[in-house]
Amino acid sequence: MTTRSPEETAAVAESLGRQLQGGEVLALIGDLGAGKTCFVQGLAVGLEIPDEAYVRSPTFSLIEEYDGRLPVYHLDLYRLSEEDELEAIGWRDCLDGESVVAVEWADQLRGYLPNRYIEIRLSIRSPEERELKFVAYGDPPVWWEGWRTTLLRKD
Ligand code: ADP
Ligand code: MG
Repeated sequence: MTTRSPEETAAVAESLGRQLQGGEVLALIGDLGAGKTCFVQGLAVGLEIPDEAYVRSPTFSLIEEYDGRLPVYHLDLYRLSEEDELEAIGWRDCLDGESVVAVEWADQLRGYLPNRYIEIRLSIRSPEERELKFVAYGDPPVWWEGWRTTLLRKD
């Protein structure tokens, strides 16, 4: 789908955030400025994270934890230099089946993604337009088709 403002991207993310039941891994892929952090800020609203406005890319720490209606890990792997660092930040512990894991620059994870995850690709189409592509790998979550259908109806 295409969004035409940061608010619209955040609103799509919020609607996704409201569906999440815990254990989902969201792999965000897109260039700098594509809207990955904007998307996570919208997710934070849907996940009822207090002070969702303060969600920022953990570019230097690589990982940040939030408590919403579900526990949330927000990772930004832009500066990931070696795979050992994934271990150091506790990547495997994030995959606890209860937490929502949102990963910016998830292309850095390559073989470290679980079998089930949701890929979200963001592409810059113009200064204000972003193309969002969603793909569920492995078994899609039970709410997946219903959510996609409502989303496409709005697009
Ligand atoms: P990333 O985390 O992918 O580097 P950010 O979310 O930090 O990207 O930044 C996205 C930038 O693009 C913000 O400055 C935002 O205002 C701008 N922007 C413009 N149009 C859109 C849109 N449709 N969706 C998301 N962001 C947009
Ligand atoms: Mg970012």
